[in-house]
Amino acid sequence: MSKQYLNKTQLNAELEKCLQCPTKPCKKACPAQCSPYDFIANARMQKWAEAASEIAYHNPLGEVCGLICPDKFCQKACLRQHVDYAIKIPSVQATIMQIARVDNLWQPMVGKPIKLKVAVVGAGPAGIGATAELVKAGYSVEVYEAASTVGGVLNLIPQARLQREITVYEWQKFIDTGRVKIHLNTSVADYSLLLNNGFCAVIVAKGEQKPRELPIEGKELAVQYTTYLAKPEIYKNAMNVAVIGGGAVAVDCATTAKQFGATHVEMFVRRQINNMRVTAQEREVLLQNQIDLTTMTRVAKLEKQQDKLALYSLKTQFNAEGKLVDIPKTMICRQGFDLVVFALGSERAEEICESERIVFAGDIVNGGSTAVEAVASGKAAAEKIIKYFNQ
Ligand SMILES: Cc1cc2nc3c(=O)[nH]c(=O)nc-3n(C[C@H](O)[C@H](O)[C@H](O)COP(=O)(O)OP(=O)(O)OC[C@H]3O[C@@H](n4cnc5c(N)ncnc54)[C@H](O)[C@@H]3O)c2cc1C
Ligand code: SF4
Repeated sequence: MSKQYLNKTQLNAELEKCLQCPTKPCKKACPAQCSPYDFIANARMQKWAEAASEIAYHNPLGEVCGLICPDKFCQKACLRQHVDYAIKIPSVQATIMQIARVDNLWQPMVGKPIKLKVAVVGAGPAGIGATAELVKAGYSVEVYEAASTVGGVLNLIPQARLQREITVYEWQKFIDTGRVKIHLNTSVADYSLLLNNGFCAVIVAKGEQKPRELPIEGKELAVQYTTYLAKPEIYKNAMNVAVIGGGAVAVDCATTAKQFGATHVEMFVRRQINNMRVTAQEREVLLQNQIDLTTMTRVAKLEKQQDKLALYSLKTQFNAEGKLVDIPKTMICRQGFDLVVFALGSERAEEICESERIVFAGDIVNGGSTAVEAVASGKAAAEKIIKYFNQ
């Protein structure tokens, strides 16, 4: 789950493995169209500035994505796997961007200025994808961000996987171009107001704002993953932790609880272990952290018992139609939890209502995805606007 930067020997070994496949399957597999073929070719010649610029041209969150991209994109497509094993492309990318960051080797591509200004609502991956593309085309951009910092839900990813400074650094590069102004702590609800105030278009990249809750008795006793992951240190006294949910976010909650000293962390999952929406790496992390898994289980009720929480659950099974249903008379009560975390993902808090000059991007459109997909979606939204004004 957590990708490592490579040391010099490891990096060279990975670079040397590249077959320079003429069809560039690794590039085709990247949602942001980043080209490992090309950045590896530059890095092989120690051309770090060129390699980093190649990455940043396509993906303004090059180092972030190198550290957190799942293996299902470029790495899965790498043809080297047919010789021995796929190149660790995300780690190579992260390491190149780290080298470039230390020596300040890349700058965003800035287009010849035009007299058009776009408002971007939300400073998450989709927001920066849109911003980068607009700046490249010569637009001015003002970004409105409700939170006190940039990054969106990247800020919920445990620091062990992604340090906040890297996200801020990559955003700052765009602010430093002088073409991007950012308004933090500024929430936007009315997009037409922006259109009436000098912006030619608005890109809405607000993410999924509403964490899902379980509609059960006692639900108010649980803490949402957004609250928990934003400040896990507040819950450091919780020794016995239940995490409800079986996806990547639940894995982050469970491992965070362990890192903050919990002695027993248990995930309650409705599905079978092989149907959980986690990668092989995330499964490995669960094992390494000794997280207990209670699968084929539906949590039905939470209850306060003195200063502890009790969790009532039922076993589930698949019915003839393949739907998960409760098994009658299997309710049990598990006592003694200090903390119950809902980690069921989020949903969007508003309807998508687009026009030619108001375009939506990122998780608010696509549901919970990945950072690189959100970047790609932000880029696509910007391209729509650029095309509209080029007509
Ligand atoms: C715990 C966790 C772990 C994850 N791990 C990974 C991973 O390992 N790899 C990976 O690729 N992806 C991961 N993701 C998913 C990835 O972070 C998201 O897909 C991505 O951040 C979505 O980008 P976005 O820009 O669409 O939305 P967001 O990141 O949600 O950003 C939206 C921004 O809009 C702002 N906003 C909302 N409303 C307003 C408003 N009214 N006015 C102004 N601003 C507003 C928000 O404050 C936020 O900053 C993870 C997500 C979570 C929650
Ligand atoms: S698919 Fe793999 S081996 Fe081929 S060019 Fe891309 S990174 Fe190199």
